[in-house]
Amino acid sequence: MLQAINIHKSYNSLNVLKGIDLTIEKSEIVSIVGSSGAGKSTLLHILGTLDTPDSGDILFDGESVSSLGRNDLARFRNRHIGFIFQFHNLLPEFTALENVCLPAYLAGRTEREVRVRARELLAMMNMEHRAEHKPSEMSGGEQQRVSVARSLINSPEIIFADEPSGNLDTKNAQELHQIFFLLRKELGQTFVIVTHNDQLAEMADRKIVMRDGHILEGG
Ligand code: ADP
Ligand code: ADP
Repeated sequence: MLQAINIHKSYNSLNVLKGIDLTIEKSEIVSIVGSSGAGKSTLLHILGTLDTPDSGDILFDGESVSSLGRNDLARFRNRHIGFIFQFHNLLPEFTALENVCLPAYLAGRTEREVRVRARELLAMMNMEHRAEHKPSEMSGGEQQRVSVARSLINSPEIIFADEPSGNLDTKNAQELHQIFFLLRKELGQTFVIVTHNDQLAEMADRKIVMRDGHILEGG
């Protein structure tokens, strides 16, 4: 589904990624671990087309994204890629339901089915009863589950998560991790997850270990 070929990236004179090769298969749950500064976030951003490599290429289903211009890339990303961050990034003035619908609205989909699907996704997260609530009325775990529903609204082929449980207590973290595996079972969803959570890293189908801009294991 996704292929990274010889990715290099530096910031000023700092070489952050030093030739990364990686293939992700459909319905895989892949964890990326490694100490702070290893390049995990940078790699995740490049795989998710939020950032561009200095050299190398990213292929989705065999098609290179490097030829896409800014607007086409933004459209491509919104359609095909979901993101979950450590801090949920929900918009505070909107309800859970509105937050979940937003990526669909941005893709020009305003039909009623979007709201129906958003409610279904909230129900899968055990969050149906919170649909009309704003983020400030929810716990951290609940907010993160809304952000998972939001990441799914455009039926992305792949979801990238950067420390999704980094801000959650053990119980909420475990619940979130179970949701990832449920979504893989129910939807065949593919996940690439940067994490410091050992339990999640080990539960994944494959654990990628990064150090100093290289993949040590699991590439
Ligand atoms: P990790 O996620 O493994 O902690 P990062 O990919 O966040 O690693 O960062 C790797 C290195 O690149 C760090 O030294 C970080 O300070 C540096 N870095 C990341 N993003 C930028 C940026 N936009 N500008 C300059 N340096 C950056
Ligand atoms: P992580 O917690 O995954 O290690 P960081 O805190 O290193 O992430 O980085 C968070 C964000 O800040 C990233 O988008 C990264 O690109 C950016 N960043 C990290 N280090 C630097 C830096 N030295 N200069 C500018 N931006 C940076």
